Amino acid sequence: ELPEINGDFYELHMRLSPEDRAIQLRVREFMEREIQPIVNNFWLHDEFPYEIIPKFAELGLCGVTYQGYECPGLSFLMEGIIAMEMARVDSSIATFFGVQSGLSMGSIYMCGSEAQKQEWLPAMHRLEKIGAFGLTEPEVGSGAAGGLTTTVKRVGDTWVLNGQKKWIGNATFADVIIIWARDVDDGEVKGFIVRKDTPGFEVEKIKGKMALRIVQNGLITLTNCAIPESDRLPHANSFKDTARVLQMTRAGVAWMAVGCARGAYENALDYTRKRKQFGKPIASFQLIQNHLVEMLSNLTAMQSLVYRLSELQDGGLLKDEHASLAKVFCSLRTRDIVSKAREVMGGNGILLDHNVARFVADAEAIYSYEGTKEINSLIVGRAITGFSAFV
Ligand code: FAD
Repeated sequence: ELPEINGDFYELHMRLSPEDRAIQLRVREFMEREIQPIVNNFWLHDEFPYEIIPKFAELGLCGVTYQGYECPGLSFLMEGIIAMEMARVDSSIATFFGVQSGLSMGSIYMCGSEAQKQEWLPAMHRLEKIGAFGLTEPEVGSGAAGGLTTTVKRVGDTWVLNGQKKWIGNATFADVIIIWARDVDDGEVKGFIVRKDTPGFEVEKIKGKMALRIVQNGLITLTNCAIPESDRLPHANSFKDTARVLQMTRAGVAWMAVGCARGAYENALDYTRKRKQFGKPIASFQLIQNHLVEMLSNLTAMQSLVYRLSELQDGGLLKDEHASLAKVFCSLRTRDIVSKAREVMGGNGILLDHNVARFVADAEAIYSYEGTKEINSLIVGRAITGFSAFV
């Protein structure tokens, strides 16, 4: 009898409490039952499966770590585990969840007023309201800290936004979009809750992506959008506040990379045990076993790293460079693992039906978003050398 397929080779899940382990298995079961059967078709057609949103709501996990506002108040470790379990089946769905639960709810939780939290967080937890996070612009990606060109000007009791935002996940159907803009008066970056029906707010779907095709990314145009003072995030007063949100979500993206790699490894292992050539399962060949072991070594190292990352986060010790190092290492190794997974599957490795082709494509987006490899490396480089190579 063949051994069980298990991408958690060092059984790191044993560190979880029985309650947390039950949540992990519930997410896994949900992803395998609800998402796996439909995912390749939605990916192929560049569509989002809106019908899964109420089922997602039943999981009751949005706003994973937040205290109050109906949110679960779980640990950062559990936030990572959930991201990994989702990405193990599909990285687009994990990204949808990350944008909702992390970037957009997180901006309100970390930078919002009590009234804003009361208005949005319970409804977003229940997925009755969908969120998006607009930082990147058509001409400003890595250089967002100093380079944002979207402007905001205070006019009496309102704030007037002008500019464009590109790549904004969930934007085509979001009810609320967090927009980051530079105040023309004091030069600081501020955050705003923009409602989808605000006059002057338009979204165009970005078409033709070769990765994360299920995620609906939008190009947003803001033309004299008037936002009331009550929708300005009062604790977002400079880019440092934006960076606080990004530090938290970047740790989640490292976990997502682990999930993508784990899904690819497990699919590949399963395939190689079933596929026969020269009258034998290809998994019995030495060179195939070598590929599988290389994949598993990297996967095991990645998992050990993100468990420790979350321990730091749960202990209040997480620094930008910790999150950046994990994001760089995991997204780089994931690229390697998905490519080996494809290789051991031969021609079927490029067919959507066998899942791994989707993982190969999606790994490219994980590699570049939430800070590219270069930018996250420079964050670590600055921390260890004392020299900033950014400017
Ligand atoms: P650029 O900044 O133009 O970089 C191009 C290349 O130059 C990269 O290799 C980069 O590393 C390198 N480079 C740039 N500066 C330096 C430097 N100083 N030194 C060395 N190398 C450098 N943004 C949002 O705000 N909200 C979202 O929801 C969102 N979702 C996304 C979803 C997807 C699928 C993708 C692909 C992107 C998403 N983004 C989102 C944007 C994402 O964060 C940016 O793509 C990312 O920050 C990189 O910016 P850029 O694409 O403009 O690349």
